[in-house]
This record gives sequence, C-alpha cells and structure tokens, in this order.
Amino acid sequence: MAEMEGLEFGKSDFVLLDEVTMDQFMENLKLRFEKGRIYTYIGDVVVSVNPYKQMDIYGKDAIDAYRGRELYENPPHLYAVSDAAYKVMKRRAKDTCIVISGESGAGKTEASKYIMQYIAAITNPSQRADVESVKNVLLKSNCVLEAFGNAKTNRNDNSSRFGKYMDINFNFNGDPMGGHINNYLLEKSRVVHQQQGERNFHSFYQFLRGGSQETMASCHLQSDPSAYVYTKEGATCNNDYSSHKAVVHALEVIGFSKKEIQSIYQILASILHLGNVQFGSEGENVEVLDLEAVKHISELTGTDADGVIKSLLYRTVATGGGDVIEKGHTEEEACFGRDAFSKALYERLFGWIVGRINDVIEVKDYNPVLHGKNTVIGVLDIYGFEIFDNNSFEQFCINYCNEKLQQLFIELILQQEQAEYKREGIQWQDIDYFNNQIIVDLVEQQHKGLISILDEACLTVGKVTDTVCLDSMDIKLAQHPHYTSRKLTPTDKTMDFQKHFRIRHYAGDVTYSVEGFLDKNRDLLFQDFKRLMYHSSNPVMKEMWPDGQLSITEVTKRPLTAATLFKNSIVALVDKLACKEPYYVRCIKPNELKSPLLFDDARCQHQVAYLGLLENVMVRRAGFAYRQPYARFLQRYKMTCEYTWPNHLMDSDREAVEAIVKQHGFQDDVAYGHTKLFVRTPRSLFTLEQERAALI
Ligand code: ADP
Ligand code: MG
Repeated sequence: MAEMEGLEFGKSDFVLLDEVTMDQFMENLKLRFEKGRIYTYIGDVVVSVNPYKQMDIYGKDAIDAYRGRELYENPPHLYAVSDAAYKVMKRRAKDTCIVISGESGAGKTEASKYIMQYIAAITNPSQRADVESVKNVLLKSNCVLEAFGNAKTNRNDNSSRFGKYMDINFNFNGDPMGGHINNYLLEKSRVVHQQQGERNFHSFYQFLRGGSQETMASCHLQSDPSAYVYTKEGATCNNDYSSHKAVVHALEVIGFSKKEIQSIYQILASILHLGNVQFGSEGENVEVLDLEAVKHISELTGTDADGVIKSLLYRTVATGGGDVIEKGHTEEEACFGRDAFSKALYERLFGWIVGRINDVIEVKDYNPVLHGKNTVIGVLDIYGFEIFDNNSFEQFCINYCNEKLQQLFIELILQQEQAEYKREGIQWQDIDYFNNQIIVDLVEQQHKGLISILDEACLTVGKVTDTVCLDSMDIKLAQHPHYTSRKLTPTDKTMDFQKHFRIRHYAGDVTYSVEGFLDKNRDLLFQDFKRLMYHSSNPVMKEMWPDGQLSITEVTKRPLTAATLFKNSIVALVDKLACKEPYYVRCIKPNELKSPLLFDDARCQHQVAYLGLLENVMVRRAGFAYRQPYARFLQRYKMTCEYTWPNHLMDSDREAVEAIVKQHGFQDDVAYGHTKLFVRTPRSLFTLEQERAALI
C-alpha cells in the first residue's frame, strides 16, 4: 500500500511533498529511483523513470495485487492506471485512453507493452477462444511492428521510428474483441541513410541474419549487411537471428499467408538490391551500371527489367500542349529517384502490414442493440520531443506533434480542472502555466504558419530553394516571439546565415537546418515508379500501389505535402484523444548512458520542467484528488452510515453525503460543489473503501 511503503522510499505521490518546489520534486524523484521505486504519482498521472534493468514487478503476483483495486491501495504502478482506465471503461461505459510521453529512450514503448500485457491478463476469465485469439493478435502485432518500425539509434537500441496509437475495443463484458492501429510518420529516410553508429530498420538485419538459405538464394542475397549500401553502416546483432524467426511466427499467427510473408521479404530484398544500383554517365547519357541488381529487382517485384531501368533513368512528363514525353534524368536525379523509390517501397510495405493487421483485428458483426455499447481504451506511444545536433524536417514534425499533445494535456488537465472548480463554485487559486498555443499556431496556422509557408514554396513553379523558403519565413515571422533565424539575429553565431532557423518550443529551443526541407515536404516520387509497381505480376505488391493506375495525363492534382498530411493525421489523433477520459504516463530518461545506476540531475530536471510536472502537482494540490457526483458517492458508500442506509430522509443528496463525511471525521478534507463532493487526499476515501469492504 502506498501509505505502508514507508518514507524511506520517498513520497509515493508528489502531491504529498511538503512544498512544491523543483528541489523537493527532484529530491523525491531521485530518492525513489535510487531505492528502486521507478513509479510515482501526481494524482492519477504516473511519472516513470527508466530503470535500465529488469525489475521484478511485472509478474503474475503483481497483476493479482493490482487487479480491481483502487489507485491508492498499492504502490504506484503502470498496472494501477491501466486498471483505473479499464474500470472506468467497464463501469461507466466510457472510452478512455492512456497517453505515454517522454523523450526517446525514456521507456514509452516498454510501458505500452506492460499496459497491454496487463489488460490481456485481466480480461477474458472464461477463456473464450475468439477473445483469446484477438488478444493474441494484439500482443503479437507489437513484435511485427517493432521489427519493421524500430531501429538502433544512438539514444536507444530499440527506438521506435514511428508513432503508434492503438485502440482496443471491448464488449459489454469488458473483454477485448478487436482493435485498430494508427501509425504516424515512419522515419523512412532511415532506409537510405543512417547517422554514424545507427542502424537501418531491424527488419533488414533480421532477414539477412535469420532468413533460410533457400530464401536467401531465391532473393539473391548474401547474409553480410556490409554487402549492401543501405545496411553497410550497421551490423547484425546477436538476437537478429532469433528475432527473425519470432517475427515470421508472429506474422503467421496474425494470419498473413505464406505468399504475403514471401512478398514482404521480396520487397526487403528488392530495396537492398536497389541501394546497390549505381549510375554512370557518358556525356548526356545516364546509364545503370549494375544490370545484375536490376535483374534481381525485376524478378523479386514481378516487374519487367526494361521497365525497371526505364523508370530509374527517365520520367514521363506531360507537356503544356498535352503531349507526353520522356525526359532523361541527370545522374543526380537518377540517384534521387532510386532512393525515393526505396523509401516509398518500405513505407508502403509498413503501411500495408499495419492495414493487414487491422483487417484481422477489426471488430466485425458487432450489434450494439444485441451486445451493448462497444467501448474503447486507446494507448498512445508516440515519439517524444527531439533535439539533435542536426535537426531536420523529421524533428520539426515530431516536435510539432509534441506541442499538440502538450496542448491537449494542458487543456485536459489544467484548463478542465480550473473550469470544473469554477463551475462547481469551489474556490480556485490561479496557477501560472505556460500555454503553448502560440507555438502550435506558429507551426500550423493557415497562411502565416510554417507549414503553410513551406507548402507555398513547394507549390511555386520554378526553382524555389530551401534558402529562398527561409527568406520567406523570415519575412513573415520576423515578429513572432517564438521564431528566429540567423538573419533576424545576426549576432547569434550559433546558427548559419544561410540555413538555420530556431523555434522556441515549450520544451526548449531547437535549431533546424532548412536544408532538405522542401524535398522532404514535397516527398516527390516519380509517377513512373508507381506505374511500374501497379503493373507488378505479384498481386500483393500491386495492392500497395493503387495510385499507379493513373496515366500521366490523368495525374492533375498535386498530392498533399508530407507536412500537411502529417498535420492532418495529428489533428485527427488529438480529436480522437480529446473525447476520451485520459490517463497519463510521463516517462523520464535518467541518463544518456543507459545505466541503471546514474541519475543525471540536470538531464532529469530538464525533463521534469518541460513535461510541466511541477505545474501538474500545483494543480493537483490546489485541488482535490477525488471528486464524485453526490448521487454516485451515496450509492457507493451509503451503507457505511446509519443515517443513509438503506435510504436517507434528508432534503438532498448533498446533505446525506455530509452526514457520511461527518460520521467518518474527514469534514476538513472536503469541499462541497454544486453537484459533486471534492475530496482533498486519497486517505479519506481509502478509509471509506475499507469500511465498505468490511460490510459487503
Ligand atoms: P522509448 O520508447 O521511450 O524510446 P523504450 O521503451 O524503447 O523507450 O525503452 C528503451 C530501453 O530502456 C528498453 O529497450 C529497455 O532496455 C529499457 N527500459 C525501458 N523501460 C523499462 C522497464 N520498465 N524495465 C526495464 N527496462 C526498461
Ligand atoms: Mg519507443
């Protein structure tokens, strides 16, 4: 029990600090980390510090201890919030979500897996086969998505390079009966290029290391990753071999057919061969130097070898007069086209895999009249705020996403809390917090925002370069308090005149290099590749390229830019989250060394600051940890008081609740709102719960 844990472990809820100061917060966080207590509450928000070692707190005993209990009955744990979210979903038929945030390597993905494991463990007690199969697919999907969407980075050996939001649907019994996965912005540039010390996506090395001899031969691959341009920077790891087997097994369990699994690996092989295609030029003429590789690609993708060569060297364009001509690439354009094709092959493969998993877990034949309301728990595991030495378009998108999530957090936790107090007529002390709406606007506002300016530059015909686009940003945003660039602040020598701009994010300043922004935003893939793949003789691959159906004269509309697509998907995500009752897990990375022993004060304090945890405590403290409408409170606790059992004879429910509160002696710990009782500390409710339990 939280109270019984003993003070030598620090305070289990930051709300109980003597004073809400950064020093006290950090002292408590550090003490708990050093004593092996990685979880601490702020009300019902879990603050988690990555232990970087296996903890013995996730087993069956733990699951049993948390199942069905209230938050304050046990030491802080992910299981307790998972249970809380589950209970609310089941008892009140309300959709809930668990939002996990924190920077790369802070422990988000591990947390999301423990949450899913817990939910799987406490549901379907009657072991119904159809429910078991849904649970199995949900759990197995993690293994597949990690193989194709995760990579070793300098920060995290198993870093998710995509955002994931998973809805789990429950029937009226509270058993999972399906789900849906949304994925966000896969970092596809990793397919063709990795920073020093990093790897391409796990899937490539797992395949090279673990694929059977027969498959390797049929894909014309050798098992050494250094033989391929796209994987030569990384090496295989010890567990790649066994992971490959596990992934293939997971694909089979989920329901991918043999043909589909084979196609997946043929695409990986094609990408590896594509990376090795070099071009040479003689005068005007550009040619493919590696005809052997082209042959393999055409065989593996079910396309014709001449077609592959042609789409690598030419693009079809419609002239103003309506004629269609073939325009030869320069060597540079050919390389660009090749890499764009590789990235697109991988991205579409990933999207297709997610889509297939969704087909399998989609809720089918659910009749709300017959089966009752179908409720949802959503789990969001999405990239945290990123500040690298060199920040590009990807960081720009990721950090924008974090601004949006922070905005939602503020809205849900801070603004709603204040609003509720006001509504209920309970005294509220204003708390200062930074509202980051201004930064969200800087990025997404129509016409004036950074995305609009980028899109405009991408749409302009003619040679608009990254630096021209930077000029345009400087002109439009010169006055913005959260935007600057070297040109606007010439004395700031930390930025390059030609290419840098800086955003003052809620989490700190980030300097972005505008180089490559326009290309990445345009995300151009020559139509010829799409048509090539659409005509693949392999139906699985053809399915991934429906847009290759259009002939060149039919392609009139410009596709939406990458930034706009991303913005739209994040806006949709936020809408989805906003209508659910949220639970938060805030992850902190204790050090850069992946060490279980080191608590780096400065790094941790920085994260605490930008996650807004101190403000979170203040709001909780100003306030009341628990609140319930009078009627519901009565319903639950009326048996603990002679004046209310079995029914009260007072004028209002509120008076009846007052009688219960007085009888148990915590009248100083509550406030009476217009419709709800507010309880300051968990302890009072705990006493009541104990008494209730003794009576039933
Ligand atoms: P994120 O998703 O936030 O980038 P991960 O969840 O992948 O971070 O965690 C990074 C690494 O930290 C994991 O691979 C694991 O080694 C370690 N880790 C994270 N959470 C835990 C935990 N609860 N117990 C043990 N190790 C953990
Ligand atoms: Mg992750």
